[in-house]
Amino acid sequence: MSELSTLNIAYLAGVGPKKAELLKQELKVISYEDLLYYFPYKYIDRSKFYTINEVKATQSHIQVKGKITALKTIGEGRQARLSATFSDGTGVIELVWFKGHQYIKEGLDANAEYIVFGKPSLFNGHLNIVHPEMEKSKDADEKISASLQAFYNTSERMKKGYINSKTIQKMQQNIFAAYAGKIPETLPSRIITHYKLMHLHEALQTVHFPTSTELLEKARFRLKFEELFYIQLNILKIKNLRSFKIKGYPFAKVGHYLNTFYKEKLPFELTNAQKRVIKEIRADMGSDKQMNRLLQGDVGSGKTLVALMVMLIALDNNFQACLMAPTEILANQHYETLSKMVEGLDVNVRLLTGSTKKKERDELDQLLLSGQLHILIGTHALLENRVQFKNLGLVVIDEQHRFGVAQRARLWKKNERPPHVLVMTATPIPRTLALTIYGDLDVSVIDELPPGRKSIETAHYFHNRRNNLNRFILGELQKGRQIYVVYPLIEESESLDFKNLTEGYEYMQQAFADYKVEMVHGKMKSKEKDAAMQIFASGQAHILVSTTVIEVGVNVPNASVMVIESAERFGLSQLHQLRGRVGRGAEQSFCILMTSYKLSEDTRKRMTIMTQTTDGFEISEADLKLRGPGDLEGTQQSGLPFALKIANLAKDGQTLQFARQVAEAILADDPLLEKQDNFLLSKQLLKLSREKINWSMIS
Ligand code: ADP
Ligand code: MG
Repeated sequence: MSELSTLNIAYLAGVGPKKAELLKQELKVISYEDLLYYFPYKYIDRSKFYTINEVKATQSHIQVKGKITALKTIGEGRQARLSATFSDGTGVIELVWFKGHQYIKEGLDANAEYIVFGKPSLFNGHLNIVHPEMEKSKDADEKISASLQAFYNTSERMKKGYINSKTIQKMQQNIFAAYAGKIPETLPSRIITHYKLMHLHEALQTVHFPTSTELLEKARFRLKFEELFYIQLNILKIKNLRSFKIKGYPFAKVGHYLNTFYKEKLPFELTNAQKRVIKEIRADMGSDKQMNRLLQGDVGSGKTLVALMVMLIALDNNFQACLMAPTEILANQHYETLSKMVEGLDVNVRLLTGSTKKKERDELDQLLLSGQLHILIGTHALLENRVQFKNLGLVVIDEQHRFGVAQRARLWKKNERPPHVLVMTATPIPRTLALTIYGDLDVSVIDELPPGRKSIETAHYFHNRRNNLNRFILGELQKGRQIYVVYPLIEESESLDFKNLTEGYEYMQQAFADYKVEMVHGKMKSKEKDAAMQIFASGQAHILVSTTVIEVGVNVPNASVMVIESAERFGLSQLHQLRGRVGRGAEQSFCILMTSYKLSEDTRKRMTIMTQTTDGFEISEADLKLRGPGDLEGTQQSGLPFALKIANLAKDGQTLQFARQVAEAILADDPLLEKQDNFLLSKQLLKLSREKINWSMIS
């Protein structure tokens, strides 16, 4: 479609420079092709006519046929309105205009039959339609009013610039009039034939001017398929390219470190899921390919232990390993847990964060280069250029969603050949989204929690139950448990949030005067933060009031209650992550969601879902449905590779699976799309990647 993509929309009949500028600014529509791919958001059946005596004010829209029997202007000046009495012989309905009287008056023909379309309402006991759409019956364009009419989203600015849904439809029509039959096919004919897909030209024409619901569905399927198919083809081809071009370090053996750890140090039996993923990772690292693997597992599913065991495999093959965590608190915790676990194994584990003193840093640099340091744990500090390894073989990234793709790539460069990469995430991502965002990674899933965990009980309280809450907290404190209280502080600069947090802290100190309360927030120096966390983790403090800085990874098994204040302000995944801070010990744990009375329907749903399930995958599916993939937590940073125009990841999971299979089958036969047969496919991919580049230059 190269031609249509280079034709400027300003030259289309009925557009012109002013409207073209608006289309560009408001819809990013620049070319003919952009407009063709601006799809309707809904359709209304225009084949149905009502008689006026059937019409009810509750209907969302109606279409009637009749004549104007009287026309007058009522009121004066700004209040004036134009009123027409419209009759079809069965009754009358008033048509009202508040704007453009003169123009409309002149255009109306008292003798002609009109088709009137609009939303009926009741005014002074009479039916009326304000600003109806009108068209003379004899002019009625077959395409537009024949059956299903497409509706396009338009902004206020567009309406002011005389572009409404109808205008857009007219423009679409003009494109088809000028280019009938000239829209080139973008899928190879063998795919079209084999899967009985609609041709592109017909599909585009049908989504804009459907003649039946059946055909519309076929057209939408074709377009969704194509959109998802090219995304999958792109990701899978990149993956192939990587595996052909990049050689990995084969970790051929398992030796002293892992064996001794497994026999002598393993603190508990591995879950079956842990065993399975370790096997998958071993097989992957054992080949001569470089591993790029995503390890997904709900909060508390034991990913850290898996990370340690695969790092020991790296050591067994004379390589170093590193583990990067998104926060200092988490890096510290990993450091402590892991060093304890490998005690007596002769493994040198060290910690590197922003707070590491210069003297120690210098020492670390030396140890890393000489190879005496085996496992380095740290924060973003690991990415710095001065961090040079003797022989880095494996990189583990915890809570991947907190890092960008670019950061992952920087760790690749820390050895001659890129090290194996394992990224871990506890933000469960629905499969459709994972395939789209992480489609180039292999995926391992821990779908089982260690035995003996009690499911966390979750309740939703309105603020008026604070006394009940306090009694409950007191009861838990008396049993020796610890409590988290979390406040929203999304933007760490929001001073109002900060006030809530500090007031909450003071309130808890007064309400639980016999207990020690600590506070942690993002504005504190990391040293102070760590000190406060440490006091809580060691059990010296009983209540921790904090912002979401504790969201990720922190492990205090004795904490059994998570109170989330203003829970309405958190997304589902974040609520789930926060809740995952409790339920880590043997005791029954609780999560209480505090909200105000005034809740939107969506928020209510979120609270209900939280009280009904603790399954992270179920929650993320629900999140995807409620919020749409663009907003999904954990995806903002990685971002969707393409803005989807017609497919919806929340609803089109099956189409996505299908598209992926088709892409896989093609690449199985021609991994880099080099065959002549696949020329069209490579050409399309190239075009899509160019558009992406242009896109980032424009916006
Ligand atoms: P996450 O997957 O959220 O990072 P962690 O690795 O922090 O989870 O593990 C959560 C808790 O479960 C830790 O206290 C850990 O020691 C414990 N754990 C991990 N694996 C097992 C297991 N197989 N059996 C019992 N407890 C386990
Ligand atoms: Mg973790």
